[in-house]
Amino acid sequence: MSRHIHHASRPEIAELQAYHVPPPGDMVKLDAMENPYCWPENIQQAWLNVMAQTPLNRYPSADPTQLKAMIQQTMHVPAGKSLMLGNGSDELIQIIALACAKPGACLLAPEPGFAMYKLIATYAGITYVGVPLTRQYELDMPKMREAINEHQPAVTFLAYPNNPTGNLFNPTNIHEVIQISPGAVVLDEAYHPFANSSFMDALSTYEHLLVMRTFSKMGLAGLRLGLLCGDNIWVEQFEKLRMPYNLSTLTQASALFALQHHDVFAKQAEHICKNREHLLAELKTMSGITLFPSAANFVLFKVAQEQSQVVFNQLLEQKILIRNLGTAPGLLKDCLRVTVGNDDENHAFLSALRGILSELF
Ligand SMILES: *Cc1c(COP(=O)(O)O)cnc(C)c1O
Repeated sequence: MSRHIHHASRPEIAELQAYHVPPPGDMVKLDAMENPYCWPENIQQAWLNVMAQTPLNRYPSADPTQLKAMIQQTMHVPAGKSLMLGNGSDELIQIIALACAKPGACLLAPEPGFAMYKLIATYAGITYVGVPLTRQYELDMPKMREAINEHQPAVTFLAYPNNPTGNLFNPTNIHEVIQISPGAVVLDEAYHPFANSSFMDALSTYEHLLVMRTFSKMGLAGLRLGLLCGDNIWVEQFEKLRMPYNLSTLTQASALFALQHHDVFAKQAEHICKNREHLLAELKTMSGITLFPSAANFVLFKVAQEQSQVVFNQLLEQKILIRNLGTAPGLLKDCLRVTVGNDDENHAFLSALRGILSELF
């Protein structure tokens, strides 16, 4: 490394690999939990009309009160709780990590979990503690109790449903984690549109609970909008770290428009859930894989006889891109994750996989 970079850069940053997102090309793209559906033509047109009237010469609103009120109402945020908006929930995780990064502090999360928790902890300079889940991907309560007791985490992240495993942790276990945590507990409900279960109401019970949601998985991944709900004692601290213009005017106007047409997303989510059940039912009939339950818009499965890389590569040859999580040892060994797509995408995936597995097993 150059002497100047060595002098300037933090060693833990120098050691990081840049987050790699492969260019999709003409693939059937089932790797990133995106919603496969666009808006109906008439709604797209109405949105364009709103965009045409949105001025870009001024800085965006630093506190979009109308949008926040609409979010509070649509997402049933309990009265009296505060809301912070971020450029995707990734930015909110970063703000929380920065706010908590006292010397000696740690950020705790179960593993396997959302990769950004660990990465962002490194960016923020807060120690990361990963606690293994059980083999069924449930919270391992003896290990969680021990880790919380030993490390006294400043903040704990729980994804509900969990990514990449797709399951909802047992709510009794989550309540206990909240009750024994000395710092903040963030319930990351990115997959809420597909889950039918939430800790939003529990905000009224616990003043150190925060609930995070995002517009990404619901169908607006390109917009970059995430939100954090919780007691104002937390939100007012985090707000000090938020860049005042973190949300563009176009994002704010589009999000408000989207919430005024929330029924469109609700219908799409319903359809995606139906497609997920179809996908699970079809996968169940195939030999050579173990299937895990999902309350999200993706499905995790394990390939027998260490063939996950082979299956992944053969799908790729047929221009189907899913996610291979199975190369490292551990709880995800030989596991692949596929996003629920539209009818055609799911059909293409299922028939390709059926062919590959019948050759292998
Ligand atoms: C996809 C995902 C997010 C979303 O991040 P955005 O920055 O809002 O797109 C957050 N948490 C989890 C667990 C996710 O899987």
